Amino acid sequence: MAAPWSASGSPAVSAPSGAPPGDGSVPSSAPAADDMRPPTPPGPPPGSPPRSPRPAPGVAPGAYHHWGLDRPLDPPPPPPDVKPPLVPDGEQPPGLPPVIRQVATTDRVVFLTIDDGLEKDPRFIDQVRDLGLPFTQFLTDQAVDGQYDYFGELHRLGGGIGNHTLTHPSLAGQDYGTQVQEICGQQENLRNRLGVQPRLFRPPYGEYDETTLRAAADCGLGPVVLWRAEMETQGLVYRSGGRLQPGDIVLAHFRGPEQLDGHTMTEMITELLREIQAQGFAVARLEDYV
Ligand SMILES: [Zn+2]
Repeated sequence: MAAPWSASGSPAVSAPSGAPPGDGSVPSSAPAADDMRPPTPPGPPPGSPPRSPRPAPGVAPGAYHHWGLDRPLDPPPPPPDVKPPLVPDGEQPPGLPPVIRQVATTDRVVFLTIDDGLEKDPRFIDQVRDLGLPFTQFLTDQAVDGQYDYFGELHRLGGGIGNHTLTHPSLAGQDYGTQVQEICGQQENLRNRLGVQPRLFRPPYGEYDETTLRAAADCGLGPVVLWRAEMETQGLVYRSGGRLQPGDIVLAHFRGPEQLDGHTMTEMITELLREIQAQGFAVARLEDYV
């Protein structure tokens, strides 16, 4: 198992420059809405052989080595024909968006989510492109600080977009009007600046109350996506168990050397991917399952 990345004394990967170009499979235009995807072909007839794994899009030859991995990322299995039922995290009031920390699947997959938008490391764009890395970015307007183009570039490479409020407050206990302003305001920003209408919402700090769920629903948002494992400077931290489980949602942040004890965002992502590989998981696209 890989040592926690911050305890290794030196970064596992030197800061690469001149990343190899992608293979040209980048979509030529961004989807109009965040939950738009190519039409799903009808499922195979009963008894037909299993589908072969979908080749990861945009994977550059040798990219894994370039980015400090010992082997390529395992390609995720084909997306499920029918999304699994959302299993809420604990008791939930009926009729409101479900709150999830994990996807109900037996596939050996986990889902990468990256929050806030503080760091805008251009080499992370290369890393995502080279590795064909699926992830979902939960963006806060204050952290993005007007630089939506950076996140739009990641979106064109396949990075889904979720809502993470205007100013990153703890929403629990705040009145409905304040919560709606934080959530609907960011929904409007994401529509105006990136042309997307996110379905997925993540409350800052994972803190919410029933009013949050109502406000999210009234702002047009569906599932509330929390996490079961978080990438910290000392490595992955789990809410329980000490290991990844199938369907786990993993939280990381757009962070740079100031927040990462001098390490870069791409070094942090590499260490996270090494840990995911060491535990035998592939990274899949959250929007394919939720
Ligand atoms: Zn956050």
